[in-house]
Amino acid sequence: MLHKDEAIVLFKRAYGESDKIIRLFTLTSGKIAAIAKGASKSQKRFANTLEPFNHIRVEYFEKFGKGLVRIDNADIVETNSGIERSLRRASTAAFFTEFADRLTKDRERNIDLFHTLKEVLLFTKQRELSYMDILRYELKMLETLGYMPNFTACVYCGKNVKEEMKVCFSRERGGILCSACSSPLPHRVYSAGTIPGIARIGNNHHRSAFEVHDKEGLPYMQDTGDVKRFEREAREIMEGFISFHLDVEFKSYRILKSLMG
Ligand SMILES: [Zn+2]
Repeated sequence: MLHKDEAIVLFKRAYGESDKIIRLFTLTSGKIAAIAKGASKSQKRFANTLEPFNHIRVEYFEKFGKGLVRIDNADIVETNSGIERSLRRASTAAFFTEFADRLTKDRERNIDLFHTLKEVLLFTKQRELSYMDILRYELKMLETLGYMPNFTACVYCGKNVKEEMKVCFSRERGGILCSACSSPLPHRVYSAGTIPGIARIGNNHHRSAFEVHDKEGLPYMQDTGDVKRFEREAREIMEGFISFHLDVEFKSYRILKSLMG
């Protein structure tokens, strides 16, 4: 059966003498594995279309019951050009594609995730993303995958916690603890404002992450010291949550982390 779709190229490797194995995140069918016959042999066939981070239009043939689909035709919607301009851009793009690749199963349709990935790659082509931007997209992806940490209510007793009291985070339970529940349970204590700040960035998908610095944002982030502390604590919360609950360590994130300092 022949399918037409849009896709983001997640991964590519040579296969045999002249073929390529590709993983795509498609708009309508989620992640699929594909083979591109003759892709290494002929310069013209698929030219540079099947490169990671490209947004493409693709026609593929699927045999019933077979895992790999065969790419018949592909053309570019948006190239990855710009991402190669710095290691930071490349590792940011690699981190988000790895995120989508490793946290989804084959053929799980997720239109929001497709659009989020498309958007973050487009953004990464244009400039180097700040940590605030990275955090915003990380949260957005976790949300579309249904893995959002609980920043609203105590993960043990279920009570809502006042903004200024959101200081205890349990990595193991994946969210905040109220003061009563925090004493017997393992957790770490963060500065007042860090957890509401992360939640706020996660909820403001359409606003610039930089707005957290302004008057409307978090009043306690008044100078660069506050911002640095916020970033350090937010990273610890997010890294702990992801490695504990999703049981993945992203290779690309290690590079990105070293570049972020
Ligand atoms: Zn509680």
